[in-house]
Amino acid sequence: MKDTNKHQGLRNQLAKQLQEKGITDKNVLDAIKKIPRHLFLNSSFVDFAYQDKAFPIGAGQTISQPYTVAFQSELLQVEKDHKVLEIGTGSGYQTAVLVTLGAKVFTIERQNELFKKTSRLLPTLGYRPKLFVFGDGYIGLEKEAPFDSIIVTAGAPIIPQALLSQLKIGGRLVIPVGDDIQIMTLLVRKNETQFEKTEFGDFRFVPLLENKN
Ligand code: SAH
Repeated sequence: MKDTNKHQGLRNQLAKQLQEKGITDKNVLDAIKKIPRHLFLNSSFVDFAYQDKAFPIGAGQTISQPYTVAFQSELLQVEKDHKVLEIGTGSGYQTAVLVTLGAKVFTIERQNELFKKTSRLLPTLGYRPKLFVFGDGYIGLEKEAPFDSIIVTAGAPIIPQALLSQLKIGGRLVIPVGDDIQIMTLLVRKNETQFEKTEFGDFRFVPLLENKN
């Protein structure tokens, strides 16, 4: 499958919609304009790739809605060469956004099927995270810590302590917290023991599950 002018036009429209919905970070909007989301979807969904919707990606999981990807990416405040940990690689679309923002990305996926598929796909599209891990994001990635920011792309029933402890001072954790509906939550590390918490609106994610599968 290819990327065409038609796809580019649809992406420009999508970025405009996201801006109308309140996304302001130009780097994030530019990344949405650049990344061929249709190449991250199963062929049956390609015609819908530039709608602002989530779609199934196999293994009972979904590619996040573009608005959600943009909202989380904006909250991370990624700067070039930041070390960013992503929990829930899934289709790899959010990973591609982080790579495009200039981050050194470490990404963890617990579904072996998706891990294998996406770790093959991303480099063929030119997106190279520093490290792909097949594992359980609840425990983070101690050997690469501390991180400038951590993004969780599945609904977390609780805020995993390991992720808080793997943030730099000043670092940001963006995590949807809750069971059926999640509240987008930002935690900024103030010092060794204190975190400033800000809550944003309601979102819906597939659940963050423990262990590998
Ligand atoms: N960012 C992805 C979102 C995929 S959905 C995208 O836009 O495509 C969330 C992903 O989190 C799923 O692939 C799911 O398998 C994964 N996941 C759930 N619990 C996890 C855990 N404990 N560790 C790592 N990944 C997890």
